[in-house]
Amino acid sequence: MKKNKTALIEEIGDMHLSSSVETPLRDDAFIKSDEEKIKNIQAHFKQIMEELGLDLTDDSLSGTPYRVAKMYVKELFYGLNPINKPKLSTFQNKYGYKKMLIEQNITIDSACEHHFLPITGHAHVAYIPNERVIGLSKINRLVNYYAHRPQVQERLCKQILEDLQKTLNTRSVIVMITAKHLCVSSRGIKDISSSTITIEYGGDFEKPATRNEFLNALNKENGE
Ligand SMILES: [Zn+2]
Repeated sequence: MKKNKTALIEEIGDMHLSSSVETPLRDDAFIKSDEEKIKNIQAHFKQIMEELGLDLTDDSLSGTPYRVAKMYVKELFYGLNPINKPKLSTFQNKYGYKKMLIEQNITIDSACEHHFLPITGHAHVAYIPNERVIGLSKINRLVNYYAHRPQVQERLCKQILEDLQKTLNTRSVIVMITAKHLCVSSRGIKDISSSTITIEYGGDFEKPATRNEFLNALNKENGE
C-alpha cells in the first residue's frame, strides 16, 4: 500500500535525513528579488495566521505577516543567497606560523530545517596554516553566513569545514559545534538540558594527538 506524504513525514519524525553537503536549493531560487519574496511570504504567512483563527485586523497582529516575511528573507535566512557570502580574503603567512590557530565560542544562531525553530550555540574552529592565513573575523562571518539558512547541524558543520579547507588551501581544519535545538526542547521529547555536538575535521586533525590539543585548549579556556 502506498503511504501518503504526511504519513511518511510522521514516520521519519525527527531523524536527520541529510541528502548532501549542499543546501538543497531550486535552480530558480534567486530569480525573484528579495522585495518580491517578502511580498509573497507576507501573503502566505497571513493565510497561516488566519487559518489558525487569528484576527488580523487586531493592531498587534496586523503587521506580523510583513515582519515574519522580512525576518525570513533579510535576517534568519540571508545565508541562502550566495550574493550575501562574505568575501574571504587570505594573506601570505608572513610569520611562518605553522601551528594551530583556534577561533572559539563563535555564536551559532541558526534554524532547523525540519521545524524552522532556532538552533543556538557555539562553533569552535581551528586550522593549521599552509602558505595562506585568514583574518580572524572572517571565520566568524563565514560561520554566520552558513548558519543563516534552514539547517541541520551536521551539514552546517561540514559546510564551514569544506569552505575553509578550500579558502585556506589546507585539509587541516576542524569545526566543532555545540548547540541546543528548540525543536528538541520545546516540542517532541521536550528535553531542555540536552545539547548536540558535531565535530568534522581533516588533514592533521585526523591524528588523535592533534585533535586532543584542540579539545584541551578549548576546555582550558572554558574553565571546565
Ligand atoms: Zn527540528
